[in-house]
Amino acid sequence: MTPDPKASRAIARLMCDTTRDTLWSSYRDRLRQTRPHADLQCRTGSGRATYHRYDHRHQIHLITYGVRMVMAKQTPETAASWLSTREIRSRGYFGGEISVLNLLAHTCTHEFAHLLQQHAGKRYHGSVHNHHFYQLLDQLNDVGLADRTRRHLADLARHHGLFLDDRTMALPCQQQQAGQWQKGDQVRFGEGRAAREGQVIKVNRRTCTVEGTGASRGLRFRVPFVMLEAADA
Ligand SMILES: [Zn+2]
Repeated sequence: MTPDPKASRAIARLMCDTTRDTLWSSYRDRLRQTRPHADLQCRTGSGRATYHRYDHRHQIHLITYGVRMVMAKQTPETAASWLSTREIRSRGYFGGEISVLNLLAHTCTHEFAHLLQQHAGKRYHGSVHNHHFYQLLDQLNDVGLADRTRRHLADLARHHGLFLDDRTMALPCQQQQAGQWQKGDQVRFGEGRAAREGQVIKVNRRTCTVEGTGASRGLRFRVPFVMLEAADA
């Protein structure tokens, strides 16, 4: 079943509401003690791109949830390649269980951890998913805020008559398909210090040609599909 774009946009909007209602409202006063004008704007984007940005001048955090990201996370074939899937599994968030609801709730928590990371001055060029980031993400899960985020998103969806599947999703064991990648996709690959980020510039038969971004700017790689992950920025 192909996810419906209109419903996916509505879900992306509910992710915006959820981020403000649960995560931001829990931290707002604390963050404003050091930056009195700090604020958050959430919006939906039409593509896959999902990210946190910070406007230093106006002290405004901006989180964008891509409609095509919401669509991709509703289908096992395309959900498997996202960093959210790996984070939930490898760090045991939500009991390590992959479902549409868990993936989308985790995306809210993930982007909000970037907000906290930015506020703490721990977001560095070329090292975005660093151990500071994972400390914050772990904390959001440990104190129960990730669960509250998930409940809130599920309640809102139910209220709006939108279907968010909370059943465990069976993922294909390995991603070998060219069809899930396209030119312009933001990706990451490699582990630890060798981790790289970039943008797909060409889809080949078994690999993507990736142009490095951030610390890998100026470099070009041929990366097998199995090594590629879609980057939640
Ligand atoms: Zn991220």
